Amino acid sequence: MTVAYLGLGANLGDARQTLKDAVVCLAQQHTIAVLAKSSFYRTAPIDAGGDDYFNCVVKLETTLPVRHLLALCHRIEHQFGRERPFRNAPRTLDLDILLYGDHCIDEPDLIVPHPRLTERAFALVPLVEIDAAIVIPQHGRADALLAAVASQRIEKMKSPCQCPILGALAGKNTESSGGGCR
Ligand code: ADP
Ligand code: MG
Repeated sequence: MTVAYLGLGANLGDARQTLKDAVVCLAQQHTIAVLAKSSFYRTAPIDAGGDDYFNCVVKLETTLPVRHLLALCHRIEHQFGRERPFRNAPRTLDLDILLYGDHCIDEPDLIVPHPRLTERAFALVPLVEIDAAIVIPQHGRADALLAAVASQRIEKMKSPCQCPILGALAGKNTESSGGGCR
């Protein structure tokens, strides 16, 4: 079992609903136990046009090797209608592996910790919300990096997401989830 953190983002369609459904979808996976989820945040697009993003971070425990986890992320993105017309294009759902245990991976199609984790408020802020003392391999404590991203616009959503992941879905009871994989 490995503890991993995923960053979720969306700015096309009903982005908030998509994030809720995607969290439930993750919790429905038999290879994953969702341990915690952050609040939802509304954030400004960076290096891109389009609408504001909604972002959150999910902490999970998984039996999946990291490449299988990446493949699952891509599969779920696809299920939620993700298209890649150009770099940084608006997206129905983006699922990034922020951290995978204390692994450091630097391969053409997989970099962990995620290469932009340390410089993006939309990833750092929800990560620190979940785990105030989290350490990013090769970078140190995440909370020490927050000052450097303080100029990026990020707004915590008031109403918490009412995803039934930690209770109802603990036994992978998908019938009552009211959302999830599409
Ligand atoms: P973005 O970088 O904006 O998230 P994409 O979601 O289209 O863009 O991802 C582009 C590529 O980034 C993916 O095909 C994937 O192979 C690669 N990648 C490298 N490291 C990671 C990671 N830690 N998590 C997710 N994707 C990653
Ligand atoms: Mg991505």
